[in-house]
Amino acid sequence: MKRREFLKKAGVGTLLAGGLMTASAPSHAAKRFNWKLVTTWPPNFPIFQEGVKRFAKDIRKMSKGRLKIQVFAGGELVPPMQTFDAVSQGSVEMGHGSAYYWAGKVPAAQFFTAVPFGLNAQGMNAWLYHGGGLELWQEVYERYNLTALPMGNTGVQMGGWFRKEINSLADLKGLKIRIPGLGGKVMAKAGANPVLLAGGEIYTALERGTIDATEWVGPYHDLRLGLYRAAKHYYYPGWHEPGPTLELSINKKAWDSLPKDLQLIVRTAAMASNLNMLSEFEARNLEALHTLQSKYKVQIKEFPADVLHQLRELTQITLREEAAKDAMFKKVYEAYRTFQESNEAWSAVSEAAYARALKS
Ligand code: CA
Repeated sequence: MKRREFLKKAGVGTLLAGGLMTASAPSHAAKRFNWKLVTTWPPNFPIFQEGVKRFAKDIRKMSKGRLKIQVFAGGELVPPMQTFDAVSQGSVEMGHGSAYYWAGKVPAAQFFTAVPFGLNAQGMNAWLYHGGGLELWQEVYERYNLTALPMGNTGVQMGGWFRKEINSLADLKGLKIRIPGLGGKVMAKAGANPVLLAGGEIYTALERGTIDATEWVGPYHDLRLGLYRAAKHYYYPGWHEPGPTLELSINKKAWDSLPKDLQLIVRTAAMASNLNMLSEFEARNLEALHTLQSKYKVQIKEFPADVLHQLRELTQITLREEAAKDAMFKKVYEAYRTFQESNEAWSAVSEAAYARALKS
């Protein structure tokens, strides 16, 4: 009697019943899925495109071939800037890129990539996984028949490449600079002319003087793009992108059709990629920076403190203006700001305090 009660309480009966049911329904577990994933990246683009290919390979192994994901680079199946529409419409099941690429259509999406003077990579992960960020992301994407997961982060980026020195905010006036997202809007407030160019177009535009400056990623990727041949001043820090998150977008209908165990495999693999990409940048950036400095004689410079201070003030104005234009932007902005405030308060006695301790 006691034993039966114990089993009942422990839910063992339910477990056994569940096990039997699973055993009698092998067709469900055996169902195979062949999906397509399109990215916004060039083929063989290190860390990003290669990370996505590893993600697909891992899922194939973990699911024992039940979920096969074929990966296409930007332009191979759909143009890079159309991956959002392709996944939303269901012509492909998955996409990989940056949520702020869709700012024209979904202004609130920018919070899920990067906010100038916003959260760093650690803060973004805390907000998304444990601070309500991911739930807001689902809410923002729901009407587009999409769901999304964080999948990659570059860590704090570099401020960018400039053909001339930046000594004051006045030096930004009239400057043609490639910079996407909210950072571009802040630059416009400072009097610059922000332009949006895909990765493959940046070098030529800078080399020909069509643009005067550009941001891209960080030393590891910027070295490969050869930007040092077109501009010699390389500024830090990337105030505009302090820890940009990359996104895995998934067609909602396709996602709902996936058995729970395969959903778990996808979520777990995306989380592993999120960490792996960030770790790879962290491990490789400094060596590339040294190469730029010693081999290519690049001038590595910090933005003057008053320039950063003024950009920070312009960021606050920009965010308030954007919030007044779009209700969903306002909702996410308020949640993000509240989280950032508490994150900074915690950082004051953890990360920021430790950074100070290292200099003691
Ligand atoms: Ca960037």
